Amino acid sequence: MNGYMKVWLKRRMIPQQWQAAKEVIKKIEHAGYEAFIVGGAVRDYYLQKENNDVDIATSALPEEIQTIFSQTIDVGIAHGTVIVLDCGEPIEVTTYRTESTYSDHRRPDTVEFVRNLQEDLKRRDFTMNAMALSQTAEFIDYYDGRQHIDSKMICAVGEPGQRFEEDALRMLRAVRFAAQLHFSIEDNTFEAIRQNAASIEYVAIERIQVELSKIFSSAHSAFGIEYMEKTTLSHYLYGEFNSSDWTRFASDDRQVGWAYFCLVNGSDLNLLTKYRCSNKDRLFVKTVLDAYESLLDGISHVDLMRFDSMVLKTACQFVIWQNHTLDVVYEELVARKSTLPLQHAHELAITGKDLLVWSSKKRGSWIKQALDAAVEAVLNGEVQNDKQQLKEWFYAFHDEG
Ligand code: ATP
Ligand code: MG
Repeated sequence: MNGYMKVWLKRRMIPQQWQAAKEVIKKIEHAGYEAFIVGGAVRDYYLQKENNDVDIATSALPEEIQTIFSQTIDVGIAHGTVIVLDCGEPIEVTTYRTESTYSDHRRPDTVEFVRNLQEDLKRRDFTMNAMALSQTAEFIDYYDGRQHIDSKMICAVGEPGQRFEEDALRMLRAVRFAAQLHFSIEDNTFEAIRQNAASIEYVAIERIQVELSKIFSSAHSAFGIEYMEKTTLSHYLYGEFNSSDWTRFASDDRQVGWAYFCLVNGSDLNLLTKYRCSNKDRLFVKTVLDAYESLLDGISHVDLMRFDSMVLKTACQFVIWQNHTLDVVYEELVARKSTLPLQHAHELAITGKDLLVWSSKKRGSWIKQALDAAVEAVLNGEVQNDKQQLKEWFYAFHDEG
């Protein structure tokens, strides 16, 4: 380990997760077993990127981990995972394991615990994700992960075709890492993805949704989408993926990504159903797309009040990313919004009850319509937000006197 690395390690090891992981490893070693930090945390450590999701792999069996530590949560003993709580932060500890045959292209038929680290690293997807780090910051790197990171390459562990046949999601993960890190997919790995692309259809849609979210919200989403086209993975997934639509897109927010994906697919909200996105996602996407339409049509005062600043900002960005001309810049919109006589419909000086008192009509949908009309009239400056003035406005316009 060089001096720079040591200094950096000191700085980076401070986050509580890393400290806790180190303590967990020491305790496991003290009990006579091996333990290492593995997976994404090691990759990000080498890349000098923050990663607080520190996973540990160990030669100890789950039951042995449970005897070493007093506070554990059994989250998936069948798969070898126990969460250790003894060291301040919850740390996931998983027993070294190998995976047998995969008959369904997505899950191993059986999982077998082993005592050998190399066996465990061998089942991992890419060389950069197949490294281990000891608690003294020594790398265990059987598959040249660091070298591939240095040359910005995503490279399958072992024979790529076989690895993608086992678990087809790995193909989309390759694209996701390319998009996040701006790395290339190594030739053999790339070719194997092209050949196996159709089997992405075997993968559970929720897992695909997670990877697509990460591609959309990555630093190089257009680059990732270009890989989806080049590998032909895009042919087997719902919706169109055209990198040319994404060249100007830039957001680290997955919901903004999904909204944009729907937009470039003709504002097709059904895509959210197909990818099993949440109702919260759907509401956000619908609102942003409504705001986008409204901006293109020349936004009304009512819409300016109804859409919050984040939605307006996103919709303005969509107009720009779609190469349309934006009549009004976002800052101007926000300034205009702040001077509206109402910031929210419920600031209106009258309620439905007032209307019922003033009118001879019975309750009905007319109340909501009249209140909406009153909000619009206030926002358009036709009447002031004052009870007496609104009463006069109501009589004049509804002929109820
Ligand atoms: P992130 O930083 O985005 O979480 P990650 O590499 O940590 O990326 P995880 O899904 O958290 O990804 O998985 C942790 C580790 O488990 C990976 O680094 C890899 O070693 C292994 N892994 C995850 N998914 C697969 C898979 N489908 N096939 C093989 N190994 C996998
Ligand atoms: Mg992770």
